[in-house]
Amino acid sequence: MARYKDEQCRICRREGQKLFLKGERCYSDKCSVSRRNYGPGQHGQKKAKLSEYGTQLREKQKTKSFYGVGEKQFRKYFEMASNKKGVTGENLLQILESRLDNVVYRLGYGSSRAQARQIVNHGLFEVNGRKVDIASYLVKAGDVIAVRETKKDKEIIKVNESANSARPVPTWLEKDAEKLSGKVVRLASREDIDLPVEEHLIVELYSK
Ligand code: SF4
Repeated sequence: MARYKDEQCRICRREGQKLFLKGERCYSDKCSVSRRNYGPGQHGQKKAKLSEYGTQLREKQKTKSFYGVGEKQFRKYFEMASNKKGVTGENLLQILESRLDNVVYRLGYGSSRAQARQIVNHGLFEVNGRKVDIASYLVKAGDVIAVRETKKDKEIIKVNESANSARPVPTWLEKDAEKLSGKVVRLASREDIDLPVEEHLIVELYSK
């Protein structure tokens, strides 16, 4: 049997959920979770019962993987979420959704969050008319994100725009495909976020 080598798909299989880490393949029947929905490795089909701590940890790891955020940054977002009014877990998800790389992905200009991060870092985008090449930049309601004029002919933009055009854009964003831009109508609320996570478990983990 061929050795299973795909690291990103292994993450999804370990979590038992599609985390959309690979772009187009995630939306096709080639997705490894659709084909083999059990954990990777020799003992992947055995379901181990997790402790309370283990369950909380898995929810955190899943969320970090989904957004492609490291531990230090994730902890920083948690502190920000705790200091905001409202429900900490929901605040945390809203902050993660507001990252520029996530917005570029949600608008369909990146095929995955990882690729969106790369093209933001390469300076292909602007926010309210000013170049922003920081993937962790947090957008606000009313911001307009656009492909910079000089980058509109880039092959990667053309390919993504056509390949991802059928992917629904969430209602908190308004896409203008002709202008290769998108507006943040409002910040994402919990109902807008399609990540199957119990965010209160992350709050419990960090509150220990
Ligand atoms: Fe792999 Fe994407 Fe499927 Fe995850 S969702 S298993 S990354 S193809």
